[in-house]
Amino acid sequence: MSKRDRNAVGIFNRFLDLLYPAICEICQASLTHGYSLCDDCRNELPRIVSPFCKKCGEPFDGNINDEFRCQNCDDLKADFSFARASLKGLALSFRLVHGLKYQRQFFLARELALFLAETLEKDPRFAQFNSAILVPVPLFWRRQQWRQGNQAYELSRELSRLSGHENIEAIKRIRPTNTQTKLNRKQRLSNLRDAFKIRKKHASTIAKKKVIIIDDVFTTGATAHECSRILKEDGRVTDVAVLTLIRG
Ligand SMILES: [Zn+2]
Ligand SMILES: [Zn+2]
Repeated sequence: MSKRDRNAVGIFNRFLDLLYPAICEICQASLTHGYSLCDDCRNELPRIVSPFCKKCGEPFDGNINDEFRCQNCDDLKADFSFARASLKGLALSFRLVHGLKYQRQFFLARELALFLAETLEKDPRFAQFNSAILVPVPLFWRRQQWRQGNQAYELSRELSRLSGHENIEAIKRIRPTNTQTKLNRKQRLSNLRDAFKIRKKHASTIAKKKVIIIDDVFTTGATAHECSRILKEDGRVTDVAVLTLIRG
């Protein structure tokens, strides 16, 4: 390699370092493996483990049997079979999602999808979804343009790479919706009413298939329900599960 080539490689690597800073996002230890967390921080991020609600994935303390459903879910209308999240909704997990969502740190998706892949593999219910299609929750185009990307799509794409599941943007958000942070579930449901539509060009691809909806955070389940509802409308898809990074 000539000196000039070596210089070019050096400049290219420095450019990559700028794009993908080679330090752990949590403890700042330097990294060489191309992901965003060191092994210790990755292992220590609090996973959701049993017991958790079999419908919405909400974790609970104590000795509760495996068929447990939380009180919230008793009268919850949800068109998905179950929702499962990988990480507990603690400040540290939210900080990582925040980077991906609002600070354009899309390189984090590669790291965060590892947690989704882990949940996909460990929760036996996903065995029924082994040929399911991943469908990310869409943003309205204006919001996506402003954020320069969609965090759910980035996670879904990386999970597709890791798991081999096909990733299809089958749903479109057809109108802007107000931010849901301060709304309760009922208000969220009416806020989302008719906000989504199946993309015509993908309608036949997902027909009679199972779908796993991918999103960053599951809070009240209103978004997941509304997406499931239109996916299952007229018997289009046969079953829907939900996988998110965090249970908020
Ligand atoms: Zn670390
Ligand atoms: Zn529940």
